Amino acid sequence: MPLRSDWSDKPCPIARSLDVLGDPWTLLVLRELFAGNVRFEGLRTALGSSDNVLAARLARMTEAGLVARIPYGGTVRPRVEYRLTDAGRDALPVLHALANWGAKHTTAPQWARPMAITCTECGQPAQSADWCTSCNQPLTVERTEWTRPGADGPPVHLAAVV
Ligand SMILES: [Zn+2]
Repeated sequence: MPLRSDWSDKPCPIARSLDVLGDPWTLLVLRELFAGNVRFEGLRTALGSSDNVLAARLARMTEAGLVARIPYGGTVRPRVEYRLTDAGRDALPVLHALANWGAKHTTAPQWARPMAITCTECGQPAQSADWCTSCNQPLTVERTEWTRPGADGPPVHLAAVV
């Protein structure tokens, strides 16, 4: 018996999207990749996942065309990094919508600093998942900076790491 339903041939694009994106691990891996955490060990540490769950998730995301495996480290001991494809990068507004919804409708732990999504063109907080309403520009990887709740240090400019 399959673990879940196959929605890949549903007429509704929301259902088809959920067939690809609708697993929490997938969205959390995407979050990490947007923030520049692109190697297996770093992903495992950030997500607290077991090797087999993470490997299975990355394989499925690669098969689905969300990420590409890019070799690094030379030919003696080749390793891979996971990089977002165009389809993966197109999921940025999905993560922004989840961040905005979570900030509005869920309670953060008291120790967590708020997640800030900032437009780097004008320096203003993003008011929308895919559009900067201050300077009236799309909120792309090239124009977006994240201040992450669980991470110390300066904001991450997504274009510098994606
Ligand atoms: Zn702006």
